[in-house]
Amino acid sequence: MVAPMHAPGPVIDAAATAAPTPAQAGLYAEQRRKGFGRLRFSPSLEREYRQHMRQDQRISALICSATALAIWLAFMALDLWRLDLHRELAERHYDVWITVTLRLVVLTILLLLIQRLASRGRNEGKPPSPSYPWLSFLALVLIGTSSAISANVMKLRDLAHADMAQFVIIIAVFLPVGMTFRQSLGAATLIAVATALLGGVMLDPSHMREHIRLSTLVFFAVFVGAVGAYLREYAQRDQFLLRRLLHHYAMFDALTGIGNRRFFEQHAATALLQAQREGAGVVLAILDVDHFKKFNDRYGHQTGDLALSLVARSLRTGLRRPMDLAARLGGEEFGLLLYGTGPEQAQVLLDSIVAAIVELAIPHDSSATAPHLTVSIGAACFDGHETLQSLYRRADAVLYESKTGGRNRAGLDWPRSVVALASRRPQTRRRN
Ligand code: GH3
Ligand code: MG
Ligand code: MG
Repeated sequence: MVAPMHAPGPVIDAAATAAPTPAQAGLYAEQRRKGFGRLRFSPSLEREYRQHMRQDQRISALICSATALAIWLAFMALDLWRLDLHRELAERHYDVWITVTLRLVVLTILLLLIQRLASRGRNEGKPPSPSYPWLSFLALVLIGTSSAISANVMKLRDLAHADMAQFVIIIAVFLPVGMTFRQSLGAATLIAVATALLGGVMLDPSHMREHIRLSTLVFFAVFVGAVGAYLREYAQRDQFLLRRLLHHYAMFDALTGIGNRRFFEQHAATALLQAQREGAGVVLAILDVDHFKKFNDRYGHQTGDLALSLVARSLRTGLRRPMDLAARLGGEEFGLLLYGTGPEQAQVLLDSIVAAIVELAIPHDSSATAPHLTVSIGAACFDGHETLQSLYRRADAVLYESKTGGRNRAGLDWPRSVVALASRRPQTRRRN
């Protein structure tokens, strides 16, 4: 309960105005407070983060995949040049069979990955495929495994080999290719284990000392890469939460928890463009609390704040359709945007909002209009062509008429084109 500051009068239950912060902003702040040392957010945030990361790393994943493809083709050409494939295959040397098969499998996966990443680029509206980090994972593990097999094949034939490529591959696993830290660590560990085991199985004893040295160094490379990748992903996750939080602070009103003027204008501009394309009806309304200065003078600023929160909450519950929006434009003024709504429907809704504020029964004994808090609304129907500024100006003019006409009412301006659409209704209709 908040005690009135200036004079005894209405007391607004502070609990009734709860939930001022948007739920999502609360989630980001809570996650930062709880921490994320294990590099995992709560399930809904984790989904949002993964989708953001896939989008964010799509281009770098595409560059890395294209580079991997070029290197892979070069290695395949080198194999063809150095190995007498015809004889090896005729003599059923299975290690060469496996090498060739794996080379072709990796080639296919890389092409598939590039196709997925590139096709999402042409279709910007859609988020990148959720499967692409797993394709990256599969491609990298197979690249690591087949490179290890290939190096062993060359060693056994005393040909020049590229076992050092295992280090390059371990580094590549930690590049930003859409995988999380855990996926990268899993892929790098699998490659290191495969390198060690395959050498142990395929190589003869004369190569073993060298192989143990290589395997040990590969595991060190995994460890060093993992430390760097952990720190990078931790910073990335923190930045993600901070950016989302800042966005909320920039777009939402701290007192009432609904959108602010910036948010309203962005949403309204998008809605007008969409309405132009779809031929949908849009109504923009400005709501102003009546005699609010007197309310503050009579009951105190703090009680005034609680009253504003109650009004905002009432607006939020009054607008249920997904494209409808209520925002605080500033002071005791709110903006409403009704999408896909005709004039008659809008008038009914705006009247119900005026009535809902009356039903809040917030006493206001200094008001010249009623013994409780009331609001006035001015609204205008979008004519299908005008700018947001013009629509806003018309709504403001109607608000002025609602105020001078006695307050506690909603007026709506229907332009000629909307009248035509609404089958020959009068051009303007004021409800008094
Ligand atoms: P009218 O019926 O013509 O709209 O009169 P009014 O008194 O509501 O309009 P006026 O513009 O004269 O006063 C608006 C008041 O709103 C003045 C200001 O103290 C109050 N106000 C603006 N922002 C806030 C706020 O965040 N909290 C509180 N408590 N009061 C606010
Ligand atoms: Mg005002
Ligand atoms: Mg006012």
